[in-house]
Amino acid sequence: MFHLSNGMLQEPTNRTEVSELGEFGLIKLITENYKIRRDDTLCAMGDDAAVIDAGARAQVVTTDMLVEGVHFDLMYTPLKHLGYKAVTCNLSDVAAMNAIPSQVLVSIALSNRFSVEAVEELYKGIYLACEKYGVDLVGGDTTSSTSGIVISVTAMGWVDKENVVYRSGAKVNDLLCVSGDLGGAYMGLQLLEREKNVFQSNPNIQPDLAGNDYVLERQLKPEARVDVVRKWADLGLKPSAAIDISDGLSSEVLHLCTSSNVGCQLYEEKIPIDPSTASLATSFNLDPSVCALSGGEDYELLFTIAQADFDKVRNHPDFTVIGHITDAGDGVNLVARDETVHPVTAQGWDALLKKDQGE
Ligand code: ADP
Ligand code: MG
Repeated sequence: MFHLSNGMLQEPTNRTEVSELGEFGLIKLITENYKIRRDDTLCAMGDDAAVIDAGARAQVVTTDMLVEGVHFDLMYTPLKHLGYKAVTCNLSDVAAMNAIPSQVLVSIALSNRFSVEAVEELYKGIYLACEKYGVDLVGGDTTSSTSGIVISVTAMGWVDKENVVYRSGAKVNDLLCVSGDLGGAYMGLQLLEREKNVFQSNPNIQPDLAGNDYVLERQLKPEARVDVVRKWADLGLKPSAAIDISDGLSSEVLHLCTSSNVGCQLYEEKIPIDPSTASLATSFNLDPSVCALSGGEDYELLFTIAQADFDKVRNHPDFTVIGHITDAGDGVNLVARDETVHPVTAQGWDALLKKDQGE
């Protein structure tokens, strides 16, 4: 029977705040006891995408939701960029499984604040991303919201079954590698937030964003590293584990090590940071390494390889070896520039934790 109680949500008397668990604690709570019932579900929750058996190939499926005021601020996010990013952040999860993206579904909830022209602008970005990555938009859902805009994208992709790469495959002595560079998206966000505050205190002052194209692009128009999946194939390289970096290096290293039941030694001096990210961080009185470790949304790939594959990544312009995998008992550690060793803690985006409220 369905009961109404004064129109209020019925809840048990022992009420626990979601903020006490945080995003990852909540996901663990609702998923950890789930038992897969179908043979063709090769992997359910717990990785960047679910994996479904499709004969010789596997299909991967992933979904991510962007909520106005939580994940983006329309004061400085052009709708076209938002549409582009809503697609690419999902394609990044497909790439993290070593798969090539193929289709997306896009669902939107809109308040009456949004015009037809605004929605068209959003879809210009969505279509641009589809074109760039060679994927088809194949469906979605459209509904209204009481405030703001919510965009939910589901992405699918394909990979030969034996080439699926999970978060859980890292082995002791493997090398920990990362694509591209880190911290840029976070510095782009800091810059946009600073200029928003300046504008709000004096609307006559125009934003001063000159010379910061790189970090702004990293924040507003991130790419998915599908090119890296192709490069791995060209190099004859199958990583032992991979995850995409959406929440900051620290958080993703911890996820990868927890899933693989290993530890790791990560070297601060090896973390790739673009000079423009580093100099902007310094001008904000921020430590560039902290931006790379704790800032989110870089959408690079963090992966591990067997030592025997070292020659394939050594001197490769897209890849940097930043550490190695150890026994679980050794923990997940950062070796700082001064050679002191610190346990890695996740300070990445965890939208539901109290300390991060408002992000
Ligand atoms: P990512 O950062 O790679 O997008 P998330 O941290 O969002 O991954 O999610 C981690 C895992 O938990 C994923 O496998 C995801 O599918 C699963 N997950 C997240 N939220 C839910 C939910 N509400 N119900 C079921 N599974 C979920
Ligand atoms: Mg991911």
